[in-house]
Amino acid sequence: MAGAEVFVPDSRDLEVLTTAARGCRGCDLYRDASQTVFGAGARDARMMLIGEQPGDREDRAGAPFVGPAGRVLDDALHAAGIERDSVYLTNAVKHFKFTQAERGKRRIHKTPSRTEVVACRPWLVAELDAVEPEVVVLLGATAAKSVLGNDFRVTQHRGEVLHLPSGVTTGEPELVATVHPSSLLRGPKEDRDIAFDGLVDDLRLAASLCHTPA
Ligand code: SF4
Repeated sequence: MAGAEVFVPDSRDLEVLTTAARGCRGCDLYRDASQTVFGAGARDARMMLIGEQPGDREDRAGAPFVGPAGRVLDDALHAAGIERDSVYLTNAVKHFKFTQAERGKRRIHKTPSRTEVVACRPWLVAELDAVEPEVVVLLGATAAKSVLGNDFRVTQHRGEVLHLPSGVTTGEPELVATVHPSSLLRGPKEDRDIAFDGLVDDLRLAASLCHTPA
């Protein structure tokens, strides 16, 4: 598995990066997925949110966070007073990983392997360099481990303001780690309100770290 490095152009123009990512063959995930789902949003965003990988809906649409988890995120952003149009949304891995259901056409999400996350990381670093956000929200374990290393545990660091190891990206964003919105859909219904409030609190913390007026 070669990794995405050789496919990432020198340019830090988001359009150039998006176009180049369509041809990435840095790991095997491109083979079964419909298309690369690159990040999207405001190029001058002060806040970047990073999820795990595109889901079934995102894979078909070619855009991040447009499925059920995206709706939960929209609601949480709204509750936190953050405009979706003002942020940049992306994923640690840009192709949908899934297994085919034994019956029917349903494609079942599979968590990307550590190798696949590392292979795709050069795209994420390029996006961080291109957008230079003031704050990055890591949505779930895969995003957090991609950025902060495999030993990082979201549960141990929620509510904290974190920092990137030096040299990862040209900017110096502050980081907030929280759950992935899809975890709210998988958890028991009676726990959803509390989990949602926790996600909103983390987003509010992230918003408070943005220093430049919108
Ligand atoms: S998942 Fe990432 S590294 Fe793998 S082919 Fe897709 S864009 Fe390239």
